[in-house]
Amino acid sequence: MLHLVLSDIHANMDALTAVLEDAARQGEARVLVLGDLVGYGGEPNAVVDLVRSLPDVTAIRGNHDRVACGIGDADNFNMAARTSARITAELLTARNRDYLRGLPAGPLAVSDWLEICHGTPYDEDEYIFDETDALYAIRSASRPLCLFGHTHAPFAIKLAGDDIDYLDVSTGASIPIQDGVRYLANVGSVGQPRDGDPRAAYGILDSEARTLTCYRVAYDVEKAQARIRAAGLPDALARRLGIGR
Ligand code: ZN
Repeated sequence: MLHLVLSDIHANMDALTAVLEDAARQGEARVLVLGDLVGYGGEPNAVVDLVRSLPDVTAIRGNHDRVACGIGDADNFNMAARTSARITAELLTARNRDYLRGLPAGPLAVSDWLEICHGTPYDEDEYIFDETDALYAIRSASRPLCLFGHTHAPFAIKLAGDDIDYLDVSTGASIPIQDGVRYLANVGSVGQPRDGDPRAAYGILDSEARTLTCYRVAYDVEKAQARIRAAGLPDALARRLGIGR
């Protein structure tokens, strides 16, 4: 079975539709959404409606979802994030707000070998930035393969005994998932990449071939930027999409 791995869509409908079209070439997939469906982008309702309409989707919440639907505070948000949370909350329909409120917190076990989380397996809001964070997280995971988001940058390591290895997350590079080895991976952000590559990022996990592959796909960034401006969101949120930061 294929799993389409989506994280940090951030109300970017143009990026999400480009990703779904690109991924559809590989066939039917169960969809995993690792949180932050909304916030920053101009189309929170369209994104939530589309995610809800997918036939087989498992989603967890992110920190932006929590704040936008009114079950979390914006204390740790910078000004642009705060403004976007307020505008997103105003835009969200009652139905979509309720959907976000109902999303479970990670980590969520998807199978006996796979779990998903937004930030880390031990705290949904923490970030994995460096090797120390990654080692702590990989040892906290309850499953051999742990997928996370939140940092908006592709990253993957494996841990075999005490041997740590960094894995190739460039587009099209497949990571073989081996027995007896632990993996921690972030396939990147659909809607607001921050690794310097403005293309939308997603992953395909093939549970039969036992591979995880990261992909990038170009989308209409200018359209997404126009929607951000039209929604009255901070201009910096539009500009950053153009440079992938
Ligand atoms: Zn995010």
